[in-house]
Amino acid sequence: MLEELNWPVVRAALWPVAILPFGATEAHNTHLPYGTDTILAREVSARVSVACAARDVRVATLPAIPFGVNTTQLDLPLTINVMPSTQLAVLRDVIRSLEPHGVRALLLLNAHGGNELRALVRELQPETCMVLAIANWWQAGDQGVFDEPGDHAGELETSAILHVAPHLVAERDTWGDGAARDSIFEGVRNGWAWVPRRWTQVTADTGVGNPRAATAEKGSRFVAQAVERITQLCCELAVADSSALYR
Ligand SMILES: [Zn+2]
Repeated sequence: MLEELNWPVVRAALWPVAILPFGATEAHNTHLPYGTDTILAREVSARVSVACAARDVRVATLPAIPFGVNTTQLDLPLTINVMPSTQLAVLRDVIRSLEPHGVRALLLLNAHGGNELRALVRELQPETCMVLAIANWWQAGDQGVFDEPGDHAGELETSAILHVAPHLVAERDTWGDGAARDSIFEGVRNGWAWVPRRWTQVTADTGVGNPRAATAEKGSRFVAQAVERITQLCCELAVADSSALYR
């Protein structure tokens, strides 16, 4: 983790890959912390860096971005929103900072559904020779581990926090059920149309997905799988030639 390294250590190595963890600061049902997404993005990235080091591939986990796009949750107290245009500006500056120092690929490791990073990468890729990649960590593991993964503070995220930071999870009897209302629009219900979700209209406890079946053991299995797959991706990124990405 770059935050914990000193200059002699950093300058002594080549860093072909950097990971930028993307989190958020928002309510996660009644039982998970506001920093859930940031904690998970940072932890998964850190474990990936360690696993890559064991394979002799240097991967720098950059400091996590603690704010995400939360334009539809601003009526919940102390939710912090950053606009996609702000993310674009930050990402551009990060890329410009890394590129002269031999970083060949940057992986955006996302933990928050509101962070739609593809548009940012589409805009920035023509400006850089670095390979820009995105992974949503919650899609990297096998979701079959869960009865019902859920969307926000559900079984998946709750299991993951029970695994990596159990002291931050409130008592089980306080957990909301994460019940979500359906859209009034048929196209949205069927998945081919999209309207931003006004969070306080959708759910009473801010959760989407029932966390009841969550366990630390499921979290451990899922995180380990995600870390392994993202590690593989980083090892591939470390040697990828940006002019020959297809076989
Ligand atoms: Zn989350």
